[in-house]
Amino acid sequence: MAIGTETTVCGIVLHPAGHTRSPAMHNAAFAACGIDAAYHAFDVPPEYLGDALRGMRALGIHQLAVSIPHKEAVIAHLDRVDETARAIGAVNTVTLGSDGELVGTNTDWIGGLRAIEREIQPQGRRAVVLGAGGAARGLVYALGQAGAEVWVLNRTQSRAAELAEQLGAAGSGGLDELSDREAEIIVNTTSVGLGSDESPVDPRAIHAGAVVMDAVYVPEQTRLLADAAARGAVGIAGKWMLVYQAAEQFRLWTGREAPTEIMANAFDREADA
Ligand code: NAP
Repeated sequence: MAIGTETTVCGIVLHPAGHTRSPAMHNAAFAACGIDAAYHAFDVPPEYLGDALRGMRALGIHQLAVSIPHKEAVIAHLDRVDETARAIGAVNTVTLGSDGELVGTNTDWIGGLRAIEREIQPQGRRAVVLGAGGAARGLVYALGQAGAEVWVLNRTQSRAAELAEQLGAAGSGGLDELSDREAEIIVNTTSVGLGSDESPVDPRAIHAGAVVMDAVYVPEQTRLLADAAARGAVGIAGKWMLVYQAAEQFRLWTGREAPTEIMANAFDREADA
């Protein structure tokens, strides 16, 4: 759609801006649904985060996505944080209410859960989350909400233990304990594999029939997913987590179901660019 005087501006704040696929996905969704809005990537250094959020009120920007490194720091600049984002300890979406309130929420966990549910219902399953950073918090919360028994395994075991206790996971340990867990669901939220051909775990720890999701989405086919396929496990690309978390942001803002296939295609086009 052509950008005009009535076009609503929204977007994502992150630093450095680098290469984010969010604008491509959201702009494709707006175009497909005939919504007169434009989604921009704002490179906001940490010292300007508060100014950027106050700018939402001044400029009438109804929704901003929040990405690295702002997902935790943003909380200090909000009027309210919903219960889920508070439990996870991170906000990836800020909405401007009609009363001018800035409200923080988190859609990463829903994105992760919907992606996993493409292949398996987590209820009653043994699940392992690899990693103990921001993405891990969302996935541990999501799998717990969905009724899985969740273990957290991380390079720095003390961080895994802390996260497991805070979010009520079943237990924690090191990355080399994966084979002991006989996991039916494995989710990698470490940054291992991002832009490299490495995996955080020994492929022999992956059981045939397990469902393995990699939150890393560059490259789309990571070493972990290749290992999973070779072991007879089912892989889920991190792209789906990203698409579904964006779809939830779209739904929260527009009140309409998002065209997820169109958003996924936009992601693919960016990957090919
Ligand atoms: P983060 O908070 O910085 O956490 C990084 C995690 O990776 C920590 O658990 C860290 O372990 C671990 N790690 C880093 N280097 C490692 C290494 N060499 N060996 C073993 N473990 C290592 O990052 P994040 O925000 O959670 O993001 C993690 C990944 O998820 C990134 O690749 C990001 O792109 C991806 N992600 C994807 C989505 C999606 O929608 N698909 C959403 C969010 C994030 P220590 O605690 O030991 O340092």
